[in-house]
Amino acid sequence: MTIHRHFEDLIFSGTSISSAEKKYLIEHLKACPECETLFNSWQAVCKQIQSVQVVKPSPNFVEKWNKDLDNRKLLARTMQARKMLLISSTGTVLALLITFGLTMVLASPAGLINGVINSINNLVVVINLLHMFSAAIINVIPPIIPFYYTLVFSSTFCLLTVLWIYSIWRISLQGVRTK
Ligand SMILES: [Zn+2]
Repeated sequence: MTIHRHFEDLIFSGTSISSAEKKYLIEHLKACPECETLFNSWQAVCKQIQSVQVVKPSPNFVEKWNKDLDNRKLLARTMQARKMLLISSTGTVLALLITFGLTMVLASPAGLINGVINSINNLVVVINLLHMFSAAIINVIPPIIPFYYTLVFSSTFCLLTVLWIYSIWRISLQGVRTK
């Protein structure tokens, strides 16, 4: 057993053994099938390792990767901005429809016409604002925003829009009344 151990050490030490040791090992291998099997297996493993070529990344891999990453970030940002704008726009359009409906129900014929004109004006202004807003938001928005923040942002946006439209509506209605 201990003698095998010595030859095992010789087998695994590879090319770093002296020629005398090598000769000694070969002599032993002829007589010992156990060590011979080990030797052959180890040689096969060494061959296998040498035959595996190291796969190197292409020279501009890192550059490409970074560019891809930038593109993906931009895409994520754009998607996020679209999602937020879609929710905000839907809220705003709903608010406008409600305002319009209230105008229809509450206003006098003169007020109704005024209300319709105001609603159309407001819609144009809101669309313009949303357009400007969307261009600005894509540049500043982080790629991933938790849904909670989207909800808070959209709600605030809708609420402000509703308040804004309501105040304009009130002012326009008062203007009609004072005439
Ligand atoms: Zn042996």
